Amino acid sequence: MPDSDVVSLLRAIARTGRGARGWTRPPWSATVRAAESVVIDVAAESGLVASHDAAGNLWLIDRAAPPTGLIATGSHLDTVPDGGAFDGALGVATALDAVARLRAAAIPGRERLAVIVFADEEGWRFGTPIFGSRVLTGAYGPDVLDRLDADGVRLGDACPPDPFAASGGHRRLAAFVEVHVEQGLALTPAGVPLGVATGLAARSRLAFVCDGEANHAGTTPMTGRRDALVSAARLVLAADESARAEPGAVATVGTLVVEPGGSNVVPGRATGTLDVRAPAPEARDAVIAAITAACPGVVIRPLAADDGVRFDLAIRRALHTAAGADAIDLASYAGHDAGVLAAAGIPAGMLFVRSPNGISHDPLETASDDDCRRAVAVLTAALAELVSPDRGVESAAGAVDA
Ligand SMILES: [Zn+2]
Repeated sequence: MPDSDVVSLLRAIARTGRGARGWTRPPWSATVRAAESVVIDVAAESGLVASHDAAGNLWLIDRAAPPTGLIATGSHLDTVPDGGAFDGALGVATALDAVARLRAAAIPGRERLAVIVFADEEGWRFGTPIFGSRVLTGAYGPDVLDRLDADGVRLGDACPPDPFAASGGHRRLAAFVEVHVEQGLALTPAGVPLGVATGLAARSRLAFVCDGEANHAGTTPMTGRRDALVSAARLVLAADESARAEPGAVATVGTLVVEPGGSNVVPGRATGTLDVRAPAPEARDAVIAAITAACPGVVIRPLAADDGVRFDLAIRRALHTAAGADAIDLASYAGHDAGVLAAAGIPAGMLFVRSPNGISHDPLETASDDDCRRAVAVLTAALAELVSPDRGVESAAGAVDA
């Protein structure tokens, strides 16, 4: 059996779901259960009791844990298909290592420390990203249970029978800290192993339709043609230019379908998706407005939007104090359970661990043993600060300290 050291735990978790190319632990699968049992066994060594809530989230808590006021840490164990060994697993392994250390040190308030493994974080199987925390906070309703996976399996038949019985469960938490492998390449150039997340970026997903007129590619002169793909190309360039003009913004046309799609036919219609993210909602909206203004006649409609969140100042301060010169501030451009909890009013924060190649959702995703251990040291110190009994008043004050 592995011990609670982060590196040996990561290796033990990596023995589950390993395929020819990468790691695949789909939500609600035997492989994700296998990874959970590794964690449950190690947690038991520290006296933590394991139980799943109705939404399938795994809670590892003290037998004497109070009903509310928990200081929690954790992440997820499900992966994308052929994903890496660190996304999610690193947050669970660092959480267990840090909590085991604090319990072994018998610090006061240790019964309030908890580790949570959230269910179906990646969301690719049923189109339900960040499922576990969103069910707790009420951000998903029962309609999602009818979503089907690629094999036609209904989510409601794959997940526990009544996940929404877990709603409101996030109110047990007084704080949540998630450690995650860096997704991007900011820490290596900065020469630091760790990043304290300032917040999660505002995001929008949009669909666009460029209408033109399909016609013969040879007999339609350039003066008379209405080429839908030329309009779409202008939109792609406008997205690129508008995002470059806004600090921290990113814009991506990730899908594009050209109709009718013949090599000798002028495209009559081009449809695609546009993904825009920026540190604040205003900046994201400015990018979308600039793209729209540059593409008259193109129909652009929103599919989904999320204004992002700012993480708790007291938690950010605790992480920075513990990390010292080892950490810089960092904005995150992906969704995370910590962000869902923060949006629901739970004080939350995230600590990113340097990814030397900036690759994620791929088997090449990595973090060094040294950096993982540094993250544990910082998480341990920050949790000790957050759980400290004489910190209650200061914590509440931190929420209004802007
Ligand atoms: Zn993740």
